Amino acid sequence: KNYTKDEIRQIVKEENVKFLRLMFTDIGGIIKNVEVPIDQLEKVLSNKMMFDGSSIEGFVRIEESDMYLQPELDTWMIFPWGSEHGKVARLICRIYNTDGTPFMGDPRNNLIRVMDEMKAAGFTQFNIGPEPEFFLFKLDEKGQPTLHLNDKGSYFDFAPVDLGENCRRDIVLELENMGFEVEASHHEVAPGQHEIDFKYADALEAADNIQTFKLVVKTVARKHGLHATFMPKPLDGINGSGMHMNMSLFHEDGNAFYDENGEMQLSDTAYHFMAGLLNHARGLTAIANPTVNSFKRLVPGFEAPVYVAWSGKNRSPLVRVPASRGLSTRLELRSVDPTANPYLIVAAMLEAGLDGIRNQATPAPAVDRNIYRMDDDEREANQITDLPSTLHNALKALEADEVLRTSLGNHLYPSFMESKRLEWASYRQVVSQWERDQYLEQY
Ligand code: ADP
Ligand code: GLU
Ligand code: MG
Ligand code: MG
Repeated sequence: KNYTKDEIRQIVKEENVKFLRLMFTDIGGIIKNVEVPIDQLEKVLSNKMMFDGSSIEGFVRIEESDMYLQPELDTWMIFPWGSEHGKVARLICRIYNTDGTPFMGDPRNNLIRVMDEMKAAGFTQFNIGPEPEFFLFKLDEKGQPTLHLNDKGSYFDFAPVDLGENCRRDIVLELENMGFEVEASHHEVAPGQHEIDFKYADALEAADNIQTFKLVVKTVARKHGLHATFMPKPLDGINGSGMHMNMSLFHEDGNAFYDENGEMQLSDTAYHFMAGLLNHARGLTAIANPTVNSFKRLVPGFEAPVYVAWSGKNRSPLVRVPASRGLSTRLELRSVDPTANPYLIVAAMLEAGLDGIRNQATPAPAVDRNIYRMDDDEREANQITDLPSTLHNALKALEADEVLRTSLGNHLYPSFMESKRLEWASYRQVVSQWERDQYLEQY
């Protein structure tokens, strides 16, 4: 896991690695690569690799475009699929300014900053266990994705229905080859929809894992003639894809959310953290659900949350407390979808939770009834508010939330807002088929 430079030099020789991919993530959560031939290895290892930051969304302007890529040696990994010209390895990088300071427009650097705050508050780890869901669609003869699903399977089907099962099994094998500990993998509720859960890890590693995971899923799917998409709601009328986030804070004595004698065996810290998540839930939505399409998933009837509430029993609320206790005591935030930039959402959840701890906030009582069956008055009586219904409303909620703005920092917050407002403005101008179906003849 913790490679030295010498070990990496050694592996490069033994395994005949020919290319190096230096990876980082832009503000939109998209993985970026700078690929260099292996003769650049020494330059890479001595942190001298430069690239042009002005070509990356949300980074910098032309005048200040030179940036350094500093590889994190413990992220070294050889891709199992290789290329015909030799093996390809990757290193995830941090981005530095030319003056040697960390570049704060790098979402990964920002997460490191928020984790330092957590350490100052007396915690050692923020553990994240993600549950990413995705759809597999068939590719056409030209290799373009279609909207044809490849199977008719559904939740926990046993018999391999067809292509999708084999593809998912192959994905799991590749992930295991790359060192992932896959805890569960199953068909989801909707046809063509799958979920693969891997073991939780400390925030930074977990966010790195999510990025690697998406890359592996897409690459393996392609080999099976399929397109894997993490788009939250590719088809209306059936479930969308979430990426529930399980989380817990650890301190030196173990899981800080667990208390044998607490109510529901949860600690005060767990309740404060939960209250932080709930209090900032509306603003968090902009980061957890950052695309126009994300909001087509957050509607009643498809196991995705619509209201701000929590429960230890049912799965309709925003925050669920899964039944396991001890080391696995955790909170599950169910709004997050896979288009969320993992570095940004993890930083934002952590900041929201720490804010709850700082203010000793307490959550409203648990709601163990089906919220969708309540009317407005009942919801109000139970202190249940709703999540923003559009990207536009979510951005307004983020703008009004100082704690979350701080979680993104002075560089990322304005860039995030700018790019998301442009996305909304562009969407607003398009007239959809639904509108023509609805109004063209009627008016
Ligand atoms: P669900 O009941 O929602 O389907 P799963 O059992 O599929 O949940 O997912 C459990 C996830 O929670 C896994 O990724 C697992 O590693 C993670 N997890 C377990 N314990 C912890 C913990 N203490 N902190 C954070 N995540 C955890
Ligand atoms: N697909 C559902 C969602 O959009 C979640 C289903 C589940 O509970 O696993 O969040
Ligand atoms: Mg699921
Ligand atoms: Mg879940």
